Amino acid sequence: MPSRRPFFVFVGIALVCEEQPACTIGVLTVEQPSSSVRVRFAPSPTGQVHIGNIRTAIFNWLFARGHGGKFLVRVEDTDRERSTPEAIRVLFEVMEWLGLDFDEDPVYQSACVSRHKQVAEDLIARGLAYKSDKGASGMGEAILFRMPKEDVRFTDLIKGEIAKPGDSLQDFVIVRSDGTPVFHLANVVDDIDMGITHVIRGDDHVENTFRHIRLYQALGAPLPQFGHLPMIVNHQGKPYSKRDGAAFVGEFRDTGYLPDALFNFLSLLGWNPGDDREYMPREELVAAFDLARVQSSPAQMDLKKLSWMNGCYMADLPIALFREEAIRRLQAEGLVDAATDAAYVEAVLELIRSRVKVWPELIELAVYFFREDYPFDAKAVRKRLLKPGVSELLDRLREGYAGLSEWSESALDEALRSALGADQENAGTLIHPVRVAVSGQAGGPGLFEMLQVLGRDRVLTRLERGSRIAAGTLTVGE
Ligand code: GLU
Repeated sequence: MPSRRPFFVFVGIALVCEEQPACTIGVLTVEQPSSSVRVRFAPSPTGQVHIGNIRTAIFNWLFARGHGGKFLVRVEDTDRERSTPEAIRVLFEVMEWLGLDFDEDPVYQSACVSRHKQVAEDLIARGLAYKSDKGASGMGEAILFRMPKEDVRFTDLIKGEIAKPGDSLQDFVIVRSDGTPVFHLANVVDDIDMGITHVIRGDDHVENTFRHIRLYQALGAPLPQFGHLPMIVNHQGKPYSKRDGAAFVGEFRDTGYLPDALFNFLSLLGWNPGDDREYMPREELVAAFDLARVQSSPAQMDLKKLSWMNGCYMADLPIALFREEAIRRLQAEGLVDAATDAAYVEAVLELIRSRVKVWPELIELAVYFFREDYPFDAKAVRKRLLKPGVSELLDRLREGYAGLSEWSESALDEALRSALGADQENAGTLIHPVRVAVSGQAGGPGLFEMLQVLGRDRVLTRLERGSRIAAGTLTVGE
């Protein structure tokens, strides 16, 4: 039996929540093994979930899972205008998409308002808070917490020792004159009631923590450990915002990033495993995560790295999943329909799969396999097709390809070399123009594999057209 101790005993306050079952804190005494970690993600839903917020959730989740502890969710929904049912739905949807499963029912802060008010009244009764009409706009009296004037210091799990001089600390409002509890009170009371052992949140909350510590003490509750996570910044070192690029989880999901890739990437924003690993599937992250390795300096957002990371996870996707999603996207784009030869689609997907780092790239990589009016890269046309002699070379190659008895990579390669005639050294003089002619692009899969998959009819038609472009008798738009 693990040793058990009463985690928190708060006497004299009945715990009555206004709505059930939303507030699920049902007991005053939470008993648990003393080693047990209980952390929470406490977002204020606004309709979109910023990556900075979800990074906080991920760090809490990794910490809980790595310690065999509990990861809880508390919806800080006291701002009823912003915290709409839709905003709350989006929050849980995003968490589910990222695989952030939680233990116990979520707690809704708005359902615990009467509890918060009772705690405030109790503080008044004990002389630790007082009513005042200072600053109140005729609506009644606010309740202020009497802030002790001694220095407050604590050891942050990430930032180390932090202190604030007592003479800079002011009394502060805990219940507004309209009767609504203020964030500081609600946040602390709920953390106590939920038995939270570690408060891991963004470092924009450091200033609040000085006040919160005094509230814990006034309420006779043991202090949790605090860890403040570094800000996420852009390349200029400014807070990363939607002006810098995608900033909300939903945007990354809708663009086609994979949840495991985004999860891995965000785990490394402010933390590293202490070696050079970056691609770390979830179990590896859980095993390696450690608050001691969270950096205190800001973490720089790097979308290129995310794209690379996504490519690693794309390569890991089971082939059936890749195929299913790819076909869905090709159909949505009108490139493939029920009449398209399934074996051809399969061959195309196999050929381009390793090049798709992020889903939207699929279309650009696949378009010329399924349409004759594929776009031409103007620079590649100028550089590779609009050159003297290219038209004739393409014609010669087309004749060679038309007469091939076997449409295989090696036969295609050999025929190209014989079309070059005396200029064998310079296979590029034909390889590059052929690629532009048949795909419109400067790069792509290996040329002969690509020609083999495209098949004779498409290749011959396109070489003929390429020759006309090269001769200047046909112009193509992009
Ligand atoms: N609702 C607050 C926020 O989203 C919670 C902060 C905390 O984790 O204590 O910033």
